[in-house]
Amino acid sequence: MLNQDAIDTLAAKDLPGRGHLINGRMEEPAAVLEVISPIDGKRLTTIAAGSEEDVNRAVAAARAAFPAWARMAPAARKKILIKLADLIEKHALELAVLGVRDNGTEISMALKAEPLSAAGTFRYYGEAIDKVYDEIAPTAPEVLALVHREPLGVVGAIVPWNFPLMIGAWKIAPALAAGNTVVLKPAEIASLSLLRLGELALEAGLPAGVLNIVTGKGSITGKALGLHMDVDALAFTGSGGVGRMLMDYSARSNLKRVFLELGGKSPNIVFADTANLAKAAKVSAAGIFRNSGQVCVAGSRLLVEESIMDTFLEQLAAEAGKLKVGNPLNLGSDIGAVSSEDQLAKDLAYVEKAVSEGGSVVTGGSRILAETGGSYMAPTIVTGVTPQMTLFREEVFGPVLAVTPFRTEEEAVALANGTDFGLASAVWTANLGRAHRMIRAIHAGVVHVNTYGGSDITVPLGGFKQSGFGRDKSLHALHKYTDLKTAWIDLT
Ligand code: NAD
Repeated sequence: MLNQDAIDTLAAKDLPGRGHLINGRMEEPAAVLEVISPIDGKRLTTIAAGSEEDVNRAVAAARAAFPAWARMAPAARKKILIKLADLIEKHALELAVLGVRDNGTEISMALKAEPLSAAGTFRYYGEAIDKVYDEIAPTAPEVLALVHREPLGVVGAIVPWNFPLMIGAWKIAPALAAGNTVVLKPAEIASLSLLRLGELALEAGLPAGVLNIVTGKGSITGKALGLHMDVDALAFTGSGGVGRMLMDYSARSNLKRVFLELGGKSPNIVFADTANLAKAAKVSAAGIFRNSGQVCVAGSRLLVEESIMDTFLEQLAAEAGKLKVGNPLNLGSDIGAVSSEDQLAKDLAYVEKAVSEGGSVVTGGSRILAETGGSYMAPTIVTGVTPQMTLFREEVFGPVLAVTPFRTEEEAVALANGTDFGLASAVWTANLGRAHRMIRAIHAGVVHVNTYGGSDITVPLGGFKQSGFGRDKSLHALHKYTDLKTAWIDLT
């Protein structure tokens, strides 16, 4: 399916400015934000700079569309969601290229992780929704107690820039399947593919107002959605700082429920008894460096048993060296651009700080390909990272790996759990008992064993501790978008 000529043709297209999608109509924007491509630093197009008034209109459209959508038979909602999945697949390359021009993810990863994953998510929840039943409670015989699941109403979804379609679909698909209507606020530097998805949703037959997309700055558009008195829930993926603000918005407005999927500083633990160290090195390198490390579950802290540190580091640096950084639209690139100049500056500042605090850069550490005008960074490995250092504790969200040695299993557990986060993790060992002990001991939403990063829509994703609460994906996420209502019926 991936063909360089087809990619180049799509990438050469001029992109007209985009407005909001409100009440089934793509609007002309009243005010705009420039969209700069991280591939070459050039202006790509414009998106609408959403105001509070725009958000009010989108929420009103979603509220008006809610009763009919909620009452529609699940089998009818299913049909539309599956049609949307088909359309996303049909336009997969177009959506992937559009997204890559916007956020710089390498095309080989973007195609699979973005449109194809989003299509799978719409299909999964579409298929599920006419197979979930409500409950009859086991009460005394003179009573009939029914436990209904009802949609919440209007769901506000606020998503980040790293995988807009995939993460957007994780919110939109279960929310719509359960009968809610949605107002989506994409990240300002990755709105284009989601706006195109909105068009495809209309083509699939989604009624006007059921899905609205309002673009703009987080501090204006996102804030207006967060504070809105007629939004029933906020489904968020992004940074902990903004997650905290959303809880504050909820407290200051209508106590809307808030689901937060936040950052991570995930430990990737390699024991000396690992059966295949070469595989561990290759997978660990991909687990931190793909998409320039801009992956919430990235294995950004490597904990290595001291006795194999030198051997393993050598293998790992060799694997990092094999990863070609370059134009993300080129099929030959393993790693694309960092999403923006701001993000690149943050990544480089973290490396500088790590060195000033005692770390050593084994490979990378600098900006590369500056002559392209784009934002690129070499895969970076920093050794000698101690729990006191900033690089051990804070999420970089860039291609920077912190390496720390350990001597015992207990020490590995203490280091693994020694941050405020608890999103993902991995353990490499040939010892089955140790693998299970580690699964129990690590405080994280996922523990990979002898791999890193594997997942699909059938399993929940989300964090412990300050990595958030609420889970995306799987049937558990479907329940999140419903409320329980009890009917207690006296049969005497
Ligand atoms: P961010 O928190 O800066 O922005 C996320 C979204 O929030 C954007 O749409 C932004 O416009 C909006 N926003 C910003 N300020 C706001 C405000 N004051 N009010 C309301 N909305 C506001 O995050 P980002 O930089 O786009 O994404 C990177 C972060 O996302 C990282 O921390 C990463 O780990 C996390 N992430 C988590 C997961 C997960 O599933 N747990 C997945 C991907 C990314």
